[in-house]
Amino acid sequence: MAVQQNKVSKSRRNNRRAHDRLVAANPNECSNCGELKRPHHVCAACGHYNDREVVSMVNDIDLDEEAA
Ligand SMILES: [Zn+2]
Repeated sequence: MAVQQNKVSKSRRNNRRAHDRLVAANPNECSNCGELKRPHHVCAACGHYNDREVVSMVNDIDLDEEAA
């Protein structure tokens, strides 16, 4: 285990932590449905990315039908 050579003072510790903060999300509007979405991510509402449906948003998938 690494052991620190010197005690980090409250001042140095707090100065280091001065840059630690949460940054607010920067959502973009989906070009297909207008819903707010994360940049560079598939739209969670309609499954579109780059004006193209990449994830189909089918609500009811009946798994029992195929098993029978
Ligand atoms: Zn969308």
